[in-house]
Amino acid sequence: MIRKFDLAVVGGSFAGLACARTAALRGLKVAVIDAKKEPGARVRTTGIVVKEASDDFDLPARLMRKVRGVRLYAPDDRALDLHAPGYFFQATDTAGVLRWMADEAARAGAELMYGARFEHGLEHARGVALSSLGLHADFLVGADGARSRVAECFGLSRNKHFLTGMEIECEELKGFDPRFLHCFADSAIAPGYIAWVVPGVGVTQIGVAATKPARPDLGLFLRRLKTFCDLREIKTEERRSGLIPTGGTLSNLGTRRVMLVGDAAGMVSPVTGGGIHTALAFGRRAAQLVSEHLDGLGPHPVRALAKEAPRYRAKLLMRRALDLALPNALINALWMAAPVRSLAQRLYFHARPGDAASFEDWNETFERGEAKPSVKLHLI
Ligand SMILES: Cc1cc2nc3c(=O)[nH]c(=O)nc-3n(C[C@H](O)[C@H](O)[C@H](O)COP(=O)(O)OP(=O)(O)OC[C@H]3O[C@@H](n4cnc5c(N)ncnc54)[C@H](O)[C@@H]3O)c2cc1C
Repeated sequence: MIRKFDLAVVGGSFAGLACARTAALRGLKVAVIDAKKEPGARVRTTGIVVKEASDDFDLPARLMRKVRGVRLYAPDDRALDLHAPGYFFQATDTAGVLRWMADEAARAGAELMYGARFEHGLEHARGVALSSLGLHADFLVGADGARSRVAECFGLSRNKHFLTGMEIECEELKGFDPRFLHCFADSAIAPGYIAWVVPGVGVTQIGVAATKPARPDLGLFLRRLKTFCDLREIKTEERRSGLIPTGGTLSNLGTRRVMLVGDAAGMVSPVTGGGIHTALAFGRRAAQLVSEHLDGLGPHPVRALAKEAPRYRAKLLMRRALDLALPNALINALWMAAPVRSLAQRLYFHARPGDAASFEDWNETFERGEAKPSVKLHLI
């Protein structure tokens, strides 16, 4: 028997679960199909979210830890401390966040089908038949990540440019100031990107990424860390790897009845590789557009989403420059120059000003518990 849904979402991660929850709250009958055996299994991300994402999506504080600044190291280990008073990133218990999001989507009424792989679908005038999964949907959202099978199946644009990322998660390490996200510029280890140490939620995450086809060298990075900690202290609990699209939002995001979102749509910052906030925001937006369209109220969702999606024009140019992977000697020579500091400040904190003297002031405000997340209210 074929079961009928208004919306099928392929991918039960950030974009798919945000989409499913909103669509279900809006009254659609929603199915989420994910190949993983359960939500939060086989996490592939470091899971750092920007402050705006944790504010906008009310992610549970118990699953996050605030990181107040970025300590950026040159190849010769000289460090720049960057921060923007009042601003922080959130390290997350990512598997926990995804489990919480899945519970929220189910509570809103979405049906979650983990352990089910999308292989093929047949689009027709009134919807999409997913015969091998025994279901039919009026609309299908592909939130199935960087190598989207939905994009392939329906002849949509596909990501072509990537960073390859690798990470280990280990028992908490001392030796890294937990107030900072520790980032290492090093073209031998991470050509085109950086390596990182994140004092996370009850764990330490150590990772590295490089522009594909170059491979990031996690082994070399671990050896470099011996000036910070005793390598024997590193007790690996999990290993992960994955691709990060860097080519920007794709041009052909959908058909009459199918639409891509999140990494599947290339909605990832080509410079930082951050895609969780956009996956959440545009996953939710996709649901709003689809529900309005199915109610006969709104424009076609693909047209509307393509207009609203980030284009990343300046970041794509910057990505080309980063892909050149400057030699380490040159990075060392330029390190303390003022333009390098202001570029790094811009990359991590956008237009927010930094102030070299005031990290300790900002940190004290934070420690006193006076740095509450600010929520902007838009009243008409
Ligand atoms: C190593 C690494 C570190 C990163 N660190 C950060 C970070 O710190 N902060 C940040 O903002 N971003 C980070 N990113 C990027 C971020 O992880 C992604 O942008 C984000 O996960 C995108 O969410 P998504 O829901 O679009 O896709 P994904 O999280 O990739 O989820 C896709 C889902 O689709 C499912 N799926 C795939 N194919 C099928 C199929 N055929 N059938 C059924 N299900 C399928 C998968 O099981 C998965 O659950 C990182 C990425 C990597 C690889």
